[in-house]
Amino acid sequence: MLSAVGPSVTVRVPAKINLHLAVGELRADGYHDLVTVFQALSIVDEISVSAAVPGAIEPGVAVTPTDGVDVDDVPTDTSNLAWRAVEALARRADRDPDVRVRIRKAIPVAGGMAGGSADAAGALLAAAGLWRLDLGRDDLMEIAADVGSDVAFALHGGTALGTGRGERLVPVLSRHTFHWVVAVADHGLSTPTVFGELDRLRARPEAPRRVGDVEPVLEALASGEAHSLALLLGNDLQAAAVSLDPGLRRTLRAGVDAGALAGVVSGSGPTCVFLCDGHDAAVRVAAELAGFGVCRTVRVAHGPVPGARVVEGDGPP
Ligand code: ATP
Repeated sequence: MLSAVGPSVTVRVPAKINLHLAVGELRADGYHDLVTVFQALSIVDEISVSAAVPGAIEPGVAVTPTDGVDVDDVPTDTSNLAWRAVEALARRADRDPDVRVRIRKAIPVAGGMAGGSADAAGALLAAAGLWRLDLGRDDLMEIAADVGSDVAFALHGGTALGTGRGERLVPVLSRHTFHWVVAVADHGLSTPTVFGELDRLRARPEAPRRVGDVEPVLEALASGEAHSLALLLGNDLQAAAVSLDPGLRRTLRAGVDAGALAGVVSGSGPTCVFLCDGHDAAVRVAAELAGFGVCRTVRVAHGPVPGARVVEGDGPP
């Protein structure tokens, strides 16, 4: 799109949850091998990338909160993941990152829903469109994986099996739409701290039980049966998130007491997600959970939804 001052491209990009997250041993490079099933949810950030115009549009990042999200901890300097994605793409295209990135943020920050990675994926797609780069989906996925472990999934969307650090993706057949209630905490948890806590817990004699095999989860997704999937939701990071933030135990119990089929901590937490038996049930669970006072906000969402997509302006050719 040609705005009043210059061209700009806008992308919408979803949050993720992990329906299954098996964490392997610590690798020599400091990462853990993961086997995870991602699902993209209908909570989306909107990223606009505009060409910088001297005196009118300065290069950099601006963040605006939506849906009551607290953006105090989102950096607006070069450490913002969206900016790092723009820089990675500019290096690849051998040009300057002379753009302004505007983020309208609805994904909870440091919530285990990969909001920063979503913004990186959105910025990548928007900048590739703005600069009319001749890059295919595979090129973008490769750059995305370099920027961060969850960035590739934010581009991909839908439901996918992730291995490696979570960046090697295979699409998963997921019939029907699943309905979720998302309990957003009033604080964040640092992902590296949660992984560190899991390593600490696993070094003790009474190490937390690990999640089972992923195959039954894939079968439940293929059948589209929410009741079957509910029995199989599992996350190795949950014990670590609960150990760091014991109040999460109460949140998880409250969601089930409110009528959800099951609940699980999303990724490294502290967001908890609850699978419900349809949209109406999710609305009822959300209303009841909101009354329990165990979290900052409650949202209703569904998944799977598509990954990053251009909503205004041109995408990559
Ligand atoms: P993940 O699930 O991928 O581990 P998360 O959802 O727990 O991540 P994010 O919301 O991605 O966490 O943010 C983690 C930290 O990254 C924030 O505390 C913030 O300091 C930093 N950050 C950098 N860029 C962004 C961004 N665009 N949006 C949010 N946080 C960002």
